Amino acid sequence: MQTAEIRRRWLDYFGERGHTVVPSASLVSDDPTLLFTVAGMVPFVPYLTGLVPAPFSRATSVQKCIRTLDIEEVGKTPRHGTFFQMNGNFSFGDYFKEGAIGYAWELLTSSEADGGYGFDEKDLWVTVYKDDDEAVGYWRALGLPEERIQRLDKDTNYWHTGQAGPAGPCSEIFFDRGPAYGIDGGPATDDDRYVEIWNLVFMQYLISDVRGKTEFTIVKELPNKNIDTGMGLERVAFLKQGVQNFYEIDQVRPVLDRAAELSGRRYGADHEDDVRMRVIADHVRSSLMLMSDGVTPSNEGRGYILRRLMRRTVRAMRLLGVDAPSFPELFAASRDAMKDAYPEVERDYSRIAQSAIGEEETFLRTLAAGTTVLDLALNKTKAAASPQLAGDAAFLLHDTYGFPIDLTLEVAEEAGLTVDRAAFDALMAEQRARAKADAKAKKTALADLSVYGEFRAHGETVFTGYTSLQTESTIL
Ligand code: ATP
Ligand code: MG
Ligand code: MG
Ligand code: MG
Repeated sequence: MQTAEIRRRWLDYFGERGHTVVPSASLVSDDPTLLFTVAGMVPFVPYLTGLVPAPFSRATSVQKCIRTLDIEEVGKTPRHGTFFQMNGNFSFGDYFKEGAIGYAWELLTSSEADGGYGFDEKDLWVTVYKDDDEAVGYWRALGLPEERIQRLDKDTNYWHTGQAGPAGPCSEIFFDRGPAYGIDGGPATDDDRYVEIWNLVFMQYLISDVRGKTEFTIVKELPNKNIDTGMGLERVAFLKQGVQNFYEIDQVRPVLDRAAELSGRRYGADHEDDVRMRVIADHVRSSLMLMSDGVTPSNEGRGYILRRLMRRTVRAMRLLGVDAPSFPELFAASRDAMKDAYPEVERDYSRIAQSAIGEEETFLRTLAAGTTVLDLALNKTKAAASPQLAGDAAFLLHDTYGFPIDLTLEVAEEAGLTVDRAAFDALMAEQRARAKADAKAKKTALADLSVYGEFRAHGETVFTGYTSLQTESTIL
């Protein structure tokens, strides 16, 4: 089943059941506190929190999302993209737990001939919040055996924004890929074998005094309860297309294949190379979609994330043995795979390609300049009979030439030297502290990045995007 078909079936299913079909919002969220749209619910936040009365009681969408927090997972797990599409159905004071569970189960398990996704009931597991007997009751009533209903704690199965406001238990649906992929025991034990496909959030309570992900006070039951769900379109696509992962689906694989062709290496022959090809396929698609929503590469904020995605692509191509420009080929492959779902990527392609190709050329020049400086530093180190490149040399390369530390490490190793990583890290930490102090002084608008509660778990929200941006910059 092609990704487009899975999307169509979703919108048909919920459309036929009284949901207003809402087009995807931009990846650049309207919410000034968010860098990107990270979930299907983001455009609906004012309705879900009750700030603005919802113009409909039911809605559905296929929302473009970017999650930079997942960047380190990309290519390594079978299921994480930096760009992905979240299919959502939403109820604003209309149906609640029973309805949301019933719809999800029906769409997943109805036969393909009946318009469903045709999953075998026996392959599906669910998790519920441990005290949510009501949800357990609805799953049981649908015939799900006790052993495939797992009760988990607040850390995974409770949603809130991190602030006083709506909150409630979640129930997640997982697909079991079978014993060839990992150990028995359900979603709680293994997340490569049991792939999470759909999260149902039951916004049921008003909470206050939030002290952390799992500590808060329930004030009262909400008079108007809401439903927010998210199903990973690419995850269902990879499971329905009989491929191994997110990166092998129809919308992504052509880029991976192009990277393999350009490098003359075969996908499936070497684990490290496979990861690189998957990273390239993901990052090129994310960059294409970001640029199509108007983001341009720069040194801060959204533009910096885009720049990082593109530089990581160049870097991965280089590790595949390709030093020549490859963006013209890679971006064209991604455009062709995405243009049916998003015609704007074709319409705006000349603008997007120009920006991408320029960025690649600049970075290749940076790499070339950095290589000269690095060679000099390595020669100096050797001449001094030292086994270790000084940390400040590595830092200068990073800071002044934008030369990635892992590249420095790799080239040093080829020359039989190590790098004083501790000194480099100390200089990076100093720089981060300076940047944080600057950001604080500027009182940036990024006051709260955590409208989606999950991300609260990752630390002080004020600095969530900033910190991860800084840490990840060491990768470049
Ligand atoms: P995971 O635990 O696998 O990282 P999640 O719990 O972080 O997923 P949710 O925040 O519940 O994900 O998002 C709802 C759905 O969106 C998930 O059930 C999944 O199908 C999909 N999804 C989430 N993150 C990604 C991603 N990085 N790439 C592809 N799909 C994703
Ligand atoms: Mg996640
Ligand atoms: Mg999860
Ligand atoms: Mg989830």
